[in-house]
Amino acid sequence: MPELPEVETVRRTLNQLVIGKTVDRVSVHLKRIIQKPDDTEAFALLLEGETLQMVERRGKFLRFMFDHYTMVSHLRMEGRYGVYKDDEPMEPHTHVVFHFTDGTELRYKDVRQFGTMHIFPKDQDLTEKPLAKLGLEPLDEAFTFEAFREKLGSKTTKIKPLLLNQEYIVGIGNIYVDESLFLAGIHPEREANTLTKPELVKLYEAIVATLNEAVAAGGSSVKSYVNGQGEIGMFQHQLRVYGRKGEACPTCGHEIEKTVVGGRGTHFCPKCQPMKRKKRSKAVKA
Ligand SMILES: [Zn+2]
Repeated sequence: MPELPEVETVRRTLNQLVIGKTVDRVSVHLKRIIQKPDDTEAFALLLEGETLQMVERRGKFLRFMFDHYTMVSHLRMEGRYGVYKDDEPMEPHTHVVFHFTDGTELRYKDVRQFGTMHIFPKDQDLTEKPLAKLGLEPLDEAFTFEAFREKLGSKTTKIKPLLLNQEYIVGIGNIYVDESLFLAGIHPEREANTLTKPELVKLYEAIVATLNEAVAAGGSSVKSYVNGQGEIGMFQHQLRVYGRKGEACPTCGHEIEKTVVGGRGTHFCPKCQPMKRKKRSKAVKA
């Protein structure tokens, strides 16, 4: 599942490959991808003759900014964009094709079919579903420590599910939450309001550092992520704890453990991320 850094890499790659191209026509082969407008023909007609000005991002959503419309696209589990010449064979699971006037095509492929596309009149997408309720953008200037603390600091729920909730902070999924908590030395099951200010500072800095590191590494390898078929691949940054159950912690050497928090597989180092208990809690044995 792509998270903010991977989507950001796709965004940057698309900006190199398709900006300034004009849509000749759009073919939709799978109706369920198209969420708005309801009718796939109407969807296709809206983009005919439109030139792509820029691809932006809000959380894990790509925003294709055309002359008069914005197309909001979520890749979900397996969505992929690729740029091809129109005479190249169509691969299986290609559901939407944007045919450009210059003889190239932007193709959307999605094996799992969970991806979504919405079209809005220009500038109306940010105030409507699915973007309206999204939380803080962690790589924006507006993502200050104060904004972070105000949003999460007083919550009584566990920190990991809180960080995964897109209504608070967008773009961080299971992988980068585990990586950020590890970097901050915070156990994923700590309740947010039990975190001290220095811990919150560490966590805030860890989130920004983790995402920036991944975006930078992805950005520097953008070209190598367009494969022979023109498909824009998913960059996955070198990870410290995620997916490393049973391996040695890169900081202390203790074995990395895997547990389930809020229904999600969670990797952490029990030594670097201790579960501190509240004073006196459970002090008396029954
Ligand atoms: Zn450790």
